[in-house]
Amino acid sequence: MIDKIVESYIGLGSNQGDSISIIDKAISDLFLIFGSNSIKSKLYISAPVQADGPNFINAVVKIFTQKTPLELLGILQDLEKKYGRKRIYKNSPRTLDLDILLYDHKVIYSKILTIPHPRMKDRAFVLKPITDIDSHIEIPYYGNAQELLNNIRDQYIKEIDE
Ligand code: ADP
Ligand code: MG
Repeated sequence: MIDKIVESYIGLGSNQGDSISIIDKAISDLFLIFGSNSIKSKLYISAPVQADGPNFINAVVKIFTQKTPLELLGILQDLEKKYGRKRIYKNSPRTLDLDILLYDHKVIYSKILTIPHPRMKDRAFVLKPITDIDSHIEIPYYGNAQELLNNIRDQYIKEIDE
């Protein structure tokens, strides 16, 4: 626990099982855990990038929290388990992947945690939903999310009508 409330952006992805329903439920869980002032992006469908299997359903949720980054990671990993995630092999299909994208404008490099998430800068399925929530958002070290997104041309991503 820390003594102030900070904002953090969580990336959600699923490409196994009933992914739309899993992402919807996981978003509801995040709102229950971190409060109803959390903010969610739209849902997107995207082709896997350096991963196996079917298309992904993706979304991003902005939360407000007093948890430390490691406490937050623990909560997210418990949620992944709740939806049956098994780490079979690196980048194998997953029922739910929860990543800490950003945490309080901080840069963290440790064995367990890298923030900003190292691959977010070149993934449309992260940058698009994040700019839904904040169109001016700056990613520490990497720069403006909208500009990064404008430079990505070759990734399939489409908004889902629910
Ligand atoms: P990936 O998300 O890269 O496909 P995993 O979800 O299996 O792979 O994550 C593996 C490990 O990544 C986790 O055990 C965690 O310690 C580490 N990790 C490093 N940085 C982050 C981050 N920003 N958010 C979530 N996990 C992270
Ligand atoms: Mg992950």
